[in-house]
Amino acid sequence: MAAEPVPPPSSSPTDRIHVFWHEGMLDHNTGTGVFDTGMNPGFLDVLEKHPENSDRVKNMLSILKRGPISPFISWHLGRPAVLSELFSFHTPEYVNELVEADRDGGKVVCSGTFLNPGSWDAALLAAGTTLSAMKHVLDGCGKISYALIRPPGHHAQPTQADGYCLLNNAGLAVQLALDSGCKKVAVVDIDVHYGNGTAEGFYHSDKVLTISLHMNHGSWGPSHPHNGTVDELGDGEGCGYNLNIPLPNGTGDRGYKYAIIELVVPAVQKFEPDVMVFVVGQDSSAFDPNGRQCLTMEGYREIGKIIRSLADKHSDGRLLIVQEGGYHVTYSAYCLHATLEGVLDLSHPLLSDPIAYYPEDEAFSVEVIGSIKQYQKDRVPFLNGP
Ligand SMILES: [Zn+2]
Repeated sequence: MAAEPVPPPSSSPTDRIHVFWHEGMLDHNTGTGVFDTGMNPGFLDVLEKHPENSDRVKNMLSILKRGPISPFISWHLGRPAVLSELFSFHTPEYVNELVEADRDGGKVVCSGTFLNPGSWDAALLAAGTTLSAMKHVLDGCGKISYALIRPPGHHAQPTQADGYCLLNNAGLAVQLALDSGCKKVAVVDIDVHYGNGTAEGFYHSDKVLTISLHMNHGSWGPSHPHNGTVDELGDGEGCGYNLNIPLPNGTGDRGYKYAIIELVVPAVQKFEPDVMVFVVGQDSSAFDPNGRQCLTMEGYREIGKIIRSLADKHSDGRLLIVQEGGYHVTYSAYCLHATLEGVLDLSHPLLSDPIAYYPEDEAFSVEVIGSIKQYQKDRVPFLNGP
């Protein structure tokens, strides 16, 4: 008698991540200087590249192409957005300002944020590539898409550039989902900075739940007037649908996981989105020059698993992942790999962590998360529903 045939490894579409990318995004040259200032003080022999440089994304690209996760990835070519697509999130006046800046040879659009020759075409590619990634999910061609893009977008507001961001890629994708018939979209942003642009874009809407976990950095100037504090809950119909989770400096793997289980999971469960958008920045890692949180690959892997399970439970597995910050040229790529391993819900890690060694003190984050939970319970009606 023949032995029972061994079933082949599962190869359903949910077991792949569809990555959208276009190499034209490497042409956004942010220059050199003292960190992100573009300034040359004259007394330093070695000026560093702006943290948001193409090297970081080249490593993200290559680790997905040649790392152990590569068999789980399908590649798709991104495309530029057309101007009319941008008006779903940004005002025509703001878009015209950027078009004119490009025509004039570029300008500093706000502190640390440069529009140089090549930048505008890259920004259009980032926006269009994210829209294609979302459309792939909406059309049912695949459950999980990842837009590997730069320049990043989550600080860009409807009328204002901010924090290296020109166009709000995730915001445009959310609006596309709504315009395509989705009733509710949930955005979970784990970049170390407050996703203020996305929050502002949907601040008056109860159709988009924006949740941001970030370092408690507060406002950083005229381009970023928002504080990212718990009391920025949304306005009007949108009141209660912007949940800010500012975490103490040094919050690490266990603190982030605790915050997500205590605050993100119940909110998404009650909201029941039609599609989820997972906004990822590896600048919440322990080694990022632009953040003071302590996530390691293990933490990113755990977060990826939880987000995947939320998507499976509440949005029929439909999940768009959008790239934001992450400035350590090596570790950002490793942490991206770990995040996507988590999203794939693999039983064992594919890649070990080469550098995780900072200790974590959970005491502060547990206390802060408890007080945020109480604050939201007292003020956000939908969280208290059945
Ligand atoms: Zn960031």
